[in-house]
Amino acid sequence: MFPAKFNYVAVRSVEEALQLMDKHGEEGKLLAGGHSLIPAMKLRLQSPQTLIDLATVPGLRGVRVDGNVLAIGALTVHTDVASSELVRKHVPGLSDAASMIGDVQVRNRGTIGGSVAHADPAADLPVILTALNATFIVQSSTGNRTIAVDDFFTDFYTTAMNGNEILTEIRVSIPSQGTGTAYAKLPHPASGYVVVSAGALITRQASGSCTGARVAVGGLGSGPCRAIATEMELRGKALTPQMIAAAAAKAAEETDPVEDIYAGVEYKRHVATVFARKAIEAALERART
Ligand SMILES: Cc1cc2nc3c(=O)[nH]c(=O)nc-3n(C[C@H](O)[C@H](O)[C@H](O)COP(=O)(O)OP(=O)(O)OC[C@H]3O[C@@H](n4cnc5c(N)ncnc54)[C@H](O)[C@@H]3O)c2cc1C
Repeated sequence: MFPAKFNYVAVRSVEEALQLMDKHGEEGKLLAGGHSLIPAMKLRLQSPQTLIDLATVPGLRGVRVDGNVLAIGALTVHTDVASSELVRKHVPGLSDAASMIGDVQVRNRGTIGGSVAHADPAADLPVILTALNATFIVQSSTGNRTIAVDDFFTDFYTTAMNGNEILTEIRVSIPSQGTGTAYAKLPHPASGYVVVSAGALITRQASGSCTGARVAVGGLGSGPCRAIATEMELRGKALTPQMIAAAAAKAAEETDPVEDIYAGVEYKRHVATVFARKAIEAALERART
């Protein structure tokens, strides 16, 4: 399949990209790794008149420490997120998720910013970034704003970003001592996309009790979903295997799964509890070490 005819502009700065977005409006589309947009164009699901390529903009790629925050440029490819020493040291759950995306070619081209902007309900990174309580810096020609992850994913393939905004950076607080993060996924055997997945951030006191928990599940609705009942069950309790299993059993309570070609509703709910337990256990193990 061939896409409809389009113009292509490789921009040199975010400001140049923003000018073009203001000029072209809905007929212009940002291009990052192209691994979601180009297939959609080939299927004629999208036919933008102008592609504005961000890959040539310096300064949007890489991971750095900014105070107590890990700042990840929107154009950082999945491979670089997965292999970053900073990510592995501070938030290994994010490294887990990035390393499970697609195959090597997809991970070498696809970007963290493209993945969250695309907001595919079967994507990996939105789930772990929800567990990590990430924030997103978006820029328009009138300035910058910050969007919290809990407000970012609003519907299937839809985010809180406006059409004239560029996602420039993803920010994750560096967790405190005694905190572990992890991600677990049931991949579709053919595509590798998420059937069901879970991300967890667990903080444990030396006494063994849980002082902080954020747990998110994916694949059960329009986007990542906080497992609030699981988080509440964990907080303040001793993190025994029985307690973790009881908390994980509530992981699908806030979700409204839809049956799809991969799995039915009851199956998804059950698998969510299993993968939430796996993610919590792995996060706890990292919190101990
Ligand atoms: C074979 C295959 C297997 C895959 N498997 C998985 C998988 O297992 N798990 C998974 O999570 N994903 C998977 N993906 C998707 C992959 O991760 C994509 O790379 C990602 O979803 C989109 O990133 P991109 O950089 O390619 O974005 P693009 O395709 O370039 O863009 C996607 C959308 O985001 C917009 N956009 C891009 N960057 C920005 C920005 N900085 N600011 C605002 N808007 C922006 C674009 O305009 C477009 O609408 C797979 C893809 C393929 C082709």
